[in-house]
Amino acid sequence: MLGPVILAASRSDRMRRLVSAAPVTKQVVDRFIPGEDVDDIVPVVRDLADDGLELTMDVVGEDITNPTQAAAARDAYLELVDRLKPLELGTRAEMSVKLSMFGQALPSPTTALFEGPCGPTRTFQDGHELALKNVRPVVEAAAEIGTTVTLDAEDHTTLDSMFAIHEELRKDFPQTGCVIQAYLFRTEADARRLAASGSRVRLVKGAYKEPASVAYQDKHEIDRAYVRVLRTLMAGEGYPMIGSHDPRLIAIGQELAHQAGRKLDEYEFQMLYGIRTEEHRRLAAEGHRMRVYTAYGTDWYGYFMRRLAEKPANLRFFARSMLTK
Ligand code: FAD
Repeated sequence: MLGPVILAASRSDRMRRLVSAAPVTKQVVDRFIPGEDVDDIVPVVRDLADDGLELTMDVVGEDITNPTQAAAARDAYLELVDRLKPLELGTRAEMSVKLSMFGQALPSPTTALFEGPCGPTRTFQDGHELALKNVRPVVEAAAEIGTTVTLDAEDHTTLDSMFAIHEELRKDFPQTGCVIQAYLFRTEADARRLAASGSRVRLVKGAYKEPASVAYQDKHEIDRAYVRVLRTLMAGEGYPMIGSHDPRLIAIGQELAHQAGRKLDEYEFQMLYGIRTEEHRRLAAEGHRMRVYTAYGTDWYGYFMRRLAEKPANLRFFARSMLTK
């Protein structure tokens, strides 16, 4: 019940200001987001890698409002890649990006025409093109240090653009991954297309507030869809990445991989930093590739609120810590 309310709040500027200013917020946020800048995060990467875990790194931020912020997001990832280089982790530390942070949602060029000497000129590109332009150097830099990038899935209105950018990037960087969300009706068809084209695909349940016209609302229906989609990915040509903390889905994932005859390095598990940490280590100790999605940065509000929405007990903990302060 609380989940949808918190998800709605995750898009509210007023709530953003309130939550960000709360005296104990930082303490609670640290559980999920173990650093504000790249200096904080490099030791975290090193420790997780030393423990046999792999990583996908997220510089938090989304829904930026101007091209300067989009360029800053690109530069933050480029700095991260630069700092990862000496660690020589290759694909053991990859990047996850949200295209909305790279400018995907900025206004279309028709609203930004002005009369130049040779007729109408664009002041800036359409958000889709801008996001592609900003993400490409990050994918190139990642490839130079022997790793890759995965495009996160945001709300359903952004996905056609995300898949088009994914396809475009794969022409030069076939290892570029993307995310699909089991709660969306469209996902079974997306999975068939991606599995046939041999993509790296992370499957998650889905973390946004989506209407009943496009997404399953019932938890059991979402779980059933997850299993159907995972079966398609496992049977296909690509590299499935099982993004879930759900013990039942993890067990089913192992079974489906086994049925498909996949070896341990032909799929992987992924979980979020700070959630079911003992399970990360258990799977790694069993010889599985286990990748920890590790977010850092100062613009943590949207990411943090989605983590609260996934487990209302987190919200109770957050509220209690404010009251006892
Ligand atoms: P759930 O049924 O929600 O959780 C299973 C169990 O895990 C819970 O009972 C609880 O014990 C534990 N758990 C789960 N979440 C939490 C939490 N926040 N706090 C504490 N315990 C928790 N979603 C997108 O829409 N787009 C993305 O690009 C995306 N990328 C992701 C990348 C990774 C690596 C992962 C793991 C998730 C990602 N998600 C993404 C989020 C995903 O959609 C779900 O919202 C989230 O994973 C919770 O679903 P679950 O499969 O873990 O199952």
